[in-house]
Amino acid sequence: NAPLSEVDPEIAEVLERELVRQRSYLEMIASENIVPVAILQSQGSVLTNKYAEGYPGRRYYGGCEEVDVAEELAIARAKSLFGAQFANVQPHSGATANAAVLHAIARPGDTLLGLALDQGGHLTHGMKINFSGRLYDIVAYGVDEETSLIDMDEVRRLALEHKPKVIIAGWSAYPRQLDFAKFREIADEVGAYLWVDMAHFAGLVAAGVHPNPVPYAHVVSSTVHKTIGGPRSGFILTNDEDLAKKINTAVFPGQQGGPLMHVIAAKATAFKLAATDEFKDRQERTLRGAAILADRLTQPDVAAAGISVRSGGTDVHLVLVDLRNAEIDGKQAEDLLDEIHITVNRNAVPNDPRPPMVTSGLRIGTPALATRGFGDAEFTEVADVIALALQPGADLEALRARVDALAAAFPLYPDLQQ
Ligand code: PLP
Repeated sequence: NAPLSEVDPEIAEVLERELVRQRSYLEMIASENIVPVAILQSQGSVLTNKYAEGYPGRRYYGGCEEVDVAEELAIARAKSLFGAQFANVQPHSGATANAAVLHAIARPGDTLLGLALDQGGHLTHGMKINFSGRLYDIVAYGVDEETSLIDMDEVRRLALEHKPKVIIAGWSAYPRQLDFAKFREIADEVGAYLWVDMAHFAGLVAAGVHPNPVPYAHVVSSTVHKTIGGPRSGFILTNDEDLAKKINTAVFPGQQGGPLMHVIAAKATAFKLAATDEFKDRQERTLRGAAILADRLTQPDVAAAGISVRSGGTDVHLVLVDLRNAEIDGKQAEDLLDEIHITVNRNAVPNDPRPPMVTSGLRIGTPALATRGFGDAEFTEVADVIALALQPGADLEALRARVDALAAAFPLYPDLQQ
């Protein structure tokens, strides 16, 4: 029972250096967040030792009394948070939750209609070499070139033409809310299931600052680690009892063996925290931060550098920066922001002329900084730093000093030692 630093000093150093990195950089990858210490505790707990194949009260292993309590709490809290009648909290990740959804509602060879990857969709929504693209017949919709918005007339046209078994509404890089009612209307018109993947915006939904897809969709899947800010993992919701049974079977034994009980316990805590006023305040700061960033990045000095914001703004937790007419490409912009201690990811924009490893866009998100405590003043400061950094001839040293001051003012895990 020697400590990690003795057992495996090389890995202990990785943990230490990563803590230093997280403390000293501003995290603006839209899909990332910072979990509370309480969640680190569950994830690093003895629950990792436990096999619990099956579901609470119906396990294939003895000794599951305590982990049953944890999973029951996670289920009850997920249902209450999102107003759903059934929840499966066992998926190891967002991608495995999505695989289970498709396993439950479609058969290989069925047609799926989802947002194309290069237009903001996710790998699991039909990308060619992902399981979804290999097992199913994919039809993809995109965004309008002029407005950058999903064109619901186009979705309907494709649905009527291809009669998909499943219509997927959800995104990894899209700065606006989806019209769930319209998606459901189209699904009903062609006899398709509507599956909403709310992985990105689930925290906003939980806080009531974004429409809830649960009343509209047949099935809703999500991650827990993006806007919710919980452990890296997934879950699935539905109001349909028959589908709930199919989903449970699809997750276990259809897809997974033993659930990660230490993660499920941490999910329970994340859902408890997501029902609080503090969480709502955090999601409101997240949204305001993204709006402040979009506003700064649409000012004349930024526009003069050929930089714009897809759809002209945002009503979620991220901004998509369009660099197609700028001097710098996505890779250079990502590296440049890294140099001043801001972490973001480059992202293809629709009809991107540059290759996928370079791209002409950036995806910048505010959830982790809101968790760190940022409010309007700090988001205004970081937005200005980013706006100046992306313009030619920026004084990177001065900008890095401004970032470092912000990081120092909001210490991360002050009492934590790795
Ligand atoms: N669904 C969407 C919309 C996502 O953006 C992501 C992650 O980026 C996932 C699913 C997959 O989640 P995970 O990375 O946990 O597998």
